[in-house]
Amino acid sequence: MRWEDDRGPGLSRAGGAGPSDHKAITLDHQTVMVPILTLPSAVSHYTARVSAHGNGATLLRAGEPIADITFPKQPRFYGLQTEDGVPYWKLATLHGSDVLATTVLQTCTRYGNRETACQFCAIGQSLAAKSTVPEKTPAQLAEVARAAAELDGVKHVVLTTGTPRTPDRGAALLAECARAIKAASGLPIQAQCEPPEDFAWFRRLQEAGVDSLGLHLEAVTERVRRRIMPGKAEVPVSVYFDAFAEAVRVFGRGQVSTYILAGLGDTREEILEMSERLVKAGVYPFVVPFVPISGTALEHEPPPDALFLRDTLDGVAAILADHELKSADIKAGCGRCGACSTLKAREVGRA
Ligand code: SF4
Repeated sequence: MRWEDDRGPGLSRAGGAGPSDHKAITLDHQTVMVPILTLPSAVSHYTARVSAHGNGATLLRAGEPIADITFPKQPRFYGLQTEDGVPYWKLATLHGSDVLATTVLQTCTRYGNRETACQFCAIGQSLAAKSTVPEKTPAQLAEVARAAAELDGVKHVVLTTGTPRTPDRGAALLAECARAIKAASGLPIQAQCEPPEDFAWFRRLQEAGVDSLGLHLEAVTERVRRRIMPGKAEVPVSVYFDAFAEAVRVFGRGQVSTYILAGLGDTREEILEMSERLVKAGVYPFVVPFVPISGTALEHEPPPDALFLRDTLDGVAAILADHELKSADIKAGCGRCGACSTLKAREVGRA
């Protein structure tokens, strides 16, 4: 989508892990993260014209008005800072309309090396821009989560992490942070990491207050995984399925999820076949469109084709419905938020 007025009002974000180069917009009661800072968005058929009072905008397709949109407001917790002077917005951000999200460890052993880096990832960009800090402490995140819940009605928390060299793959820091956040706010928490060497970490995470877990495949075939994410692909899909089985035992059916980026090279059939396998294992396949983020190795890649996305996401929604797995039943995390994909809206549409 293009903007007639720079980035317009509301919240937008460049760089970092997770959704980036996006703006949060609310359309028909659903908040979605729409790419506005990527190269392809400059030639999008869709334009937003900010209204005179500045609180909303008109969505235009090829110059014709098609809908009114609004924006989640800047949260009040963004105006606060810790006792040692770190602004809360550098520690965690509002995602969608009611999610507090943070990358507890903003560095990754795979990032910055062509041999190992995930080509779609921008985890180092926000650190380079000094818009975040390299590692968040449990005490800092507890403070931010309490404020976000009290001042802004945040409903759940996403804790993700870059991958450290250690065999826990970041689970130890995630557990410490979850324990502190839960004690301070009581909010439901999703943790996201690569599968740790010892799956006993899943129980430790749950005991620390984590309610749901994300173990992210990103791409479903070894062919695409080796090409796009050579370091992460050293952990094969079979190990992910071992991890999924243990994680579902600990967190329950539907409380374990995986991110799948549609548009990296996996076909619709491959994504649907994997989604069916995942759902049967009790894992929610959160399929989202790949976004070619500026400054990454894939910034010049075309975004996924709209018909491919429609057919793929409709197919995943049908599989979820057949097996009665619902985003609304996820206690916390990306699947419950759903702002990075239209999958949730398609699930609701089917219902
Ligand atoms: S789906 Fe996940 S990554 Fe996307 S906005 Fe929601 S919480 Fe953030």
